[in-house]
Amino acid sequence: SPIIEIAHVDKWYGDFHALKDVSLSVAEGERIVIAGPSGSGKSTLIRCINRLEAHDKGRIAVDGIELTEDLKRIDEVRREVGMVFQQFNLFPHMTVLENCTLAPIWVRKQPQEEAEATAMRFLERVRIPEQALKYPGQLSGGQQQRVAIARALCMNPKIMLFDEPTSALDPEMIKEVLDVMVGLANDGMTMICVTHEMGFAREVADRVVFMDQGEIVEEAPPAEFFTSP
Ligand code: ADP
Ligand code: ADP
Repeated sequence: SPIIEIAHVDKWYGDFHALKDVSLSVAEGERIVIAGPSGSGKSTLIRCINRLEAHDKGRIAVDGIELTEDLKRIDEVRREVGMVFQQFNLFPHMTVLENCTLAPIWVRKQPQEEAEATAMRFLERVRIPEQALKYPGQLSGGQQQRVAIARALCMNPKIMLFDEPTSALDPEMIKEVLDVMVGLANDGMTMICVTHEMGFAREVADRVVFMDQGEIVEEAPPAEFFTSP
């Protein structure tokens, strides 16, 4: 059974119909890229998966947990879903290491030493262990985004959601973030990624989902999007 099941979901912002009868099933280990014009609902859709937004109709289940008003369920789902945003969202007055250990210590009640050891492992994995004691403002955008990825991985998620993770980066930094994401994909992480990086889609995605005006208008393996005419 799918690890993410989205069935006939509608979402309104006031009168604005942001998601229209959206259905999407994601298998464990699948890599999905969501593409489409600005304002088509891509961000809204992935934010519904960890309930940063609430859908109004239809159903969403993550690893068998139904997303309803039930706050306990929402917590359970958020425990399984890591999220990386366009703007990094790091805490500026905390070090890289503190950013990575905050939730493991305060939400998961992990002992500090264990949380720090885990954080260092993931900072090595995103290839910036030497930045652990620096503050986000001392890092490049690409390094900050890799910290954001490491921070999400410290919570041991089953699923990673990326919302335009490279859109705020200078071109020379995009590749270092994409390389980390390709590594995650190769490790079998279930990933949904909103991105304009079609190179990444071609290389990594099992499926590209194309949205327009709140609807999924096309869904296909990347090869079908990228075949030359
Ligand atoms: P995309 O990620 O494809 O750019 P979004 O999901 O961010 O699209 O937004 C879809 C539409 O919903 C846009 O027209 C946007 O302005 C609108 N929207 C997004 N968030 C809100 C909100 N909190 N309140 C009202 N409208 C919103
Ligand atoms: P993105 O396209 O990356 O999602 P946006 O600029 O559309 O970024 O949205 C940034 C934030 O503003 C989001 O939290 C979104 O929900 C909110 N937002 C977007 N459009 C509107 C809107 N028309 N009214 C209110 N909030 C909005």
